[in-house]
Amino acid sequence: IKKIGVLTSGGDAPGMNAAIRGVVRAALTEGLEVFGIHDGYLGLYEDRMEKLDRYSVSDMINRGGTFLGSARFPEFRDENVRAKAIENLKKHGIDALVVIGGDGSYMGAKRLTEEGFPCIGLPGTIDNDVAGTDYTIGYFTALETVVEAIDRLRDTSSSHQRISIVEVMGRYCGELTLSAAIAGGCEFIVLPEIEFSRDDLVEEIKAGIAKGKKHAIVAITEHVCDVDELARYIEQETCRETRATVLGHIQRGGSPVAYDRILASRMGAYSIELLLQGYGGRCVGIQNEKLVHHDIIDAIENMKRTFHLDWLETAKKLY
Ligand code: ATP
Repeated sequence: IKKIGVLTSGGDAPGMNAAIRGVVRAALTEGLEVFGIHDGYLGLYEDRMEKLDRYSVSDMINRGGTFLGSARFPEFRDENVRAKAIENLKKHGIDALVVIGGDGSYMGAKRLTEEGFPCIGLPGTIDNDVAGTDYTIGYFTALETVVEAIDRLRDTSSSHQRISIVEVMGRYCGELTLSAAIAGGCEFIVLPEIEFSRDDLVEEIKAGIAKGKKHAIVAITEHVCDVDELARYIEQETCRETRATVLGHIQRGGSPVAYDRILASRMGAYSIELLLQGYGGRCVGIQNEKLVHHDIIDAIENMKRTFHLDWLETAKKLY
């Protein structure tokens, strides 16, 4: 291979810039040319790409977001749209593509690979919900952000003897919520992996109050229920002032923590090693602190993320 493309897709995550930098600098070191594609698969379809040099990624390692831009582009599910994208890549003489994103972005990379265009996927999402890796780029930064928010909520909730509900991102994966809840010392944890009953939660909160708890923090993953409605229900049942806070996109921003920068740099460079060894259709992961690569199709179809159910048991002992 002589020329590669790189794009970021799906929700942005801190460390995506560091990953692009890793890809670009490692590729240039190996004598490859690199094209940066703007706004994910949308820019690929619209043929918006530019040649990058080592200075294109200067001062990027510490910057949140993605300077290439990202997009949701559901039309990429359409075969004809992807055919146009492949045509654009070939027009520029690009031989392979590095896709940085979550599992949705991997689906796009899987399709392109099946249709004859080799892709390497790097896991970039705060949700830590991608198969074939213990951690995704952005997860540890988001975790710090959520824990800091919980700490702040704790101050005000303890001063006012209030119950606080904090809604954490993660799509349908409770990993970010669970880790943040343990680090933030939350009293109650609600995760998509565990069946949720609001009456059981109310009973647990009441038991906490009976034990003498003056305030409580409930950490809950997005999409489990309407948190404002839940707050009203808890207030009505416990007679304690209850407020819900949705952290939202705050969780996706900010300068990446050191671990995310290291992970992104290593994974970016590793994607070039794989391409030079002739690999395509692979996704990169870190497992037991070692960089690994899996068949992207196998990862999407057969690999399940292991969920730390035992952590929840531990957290419950600390309520
Ligand atoms: P995050 O979960 O962090 O938001 P993600 O990569 O999972 O990241 P998605 O919006 O699910 O985010 O996917 C990103 C993009 O990948 C989509 O907008 C679409 O362009 C492409 N994509 C998703 N699913 C498919 C599919 N089945 N076939 C082709 N392309 C897809």
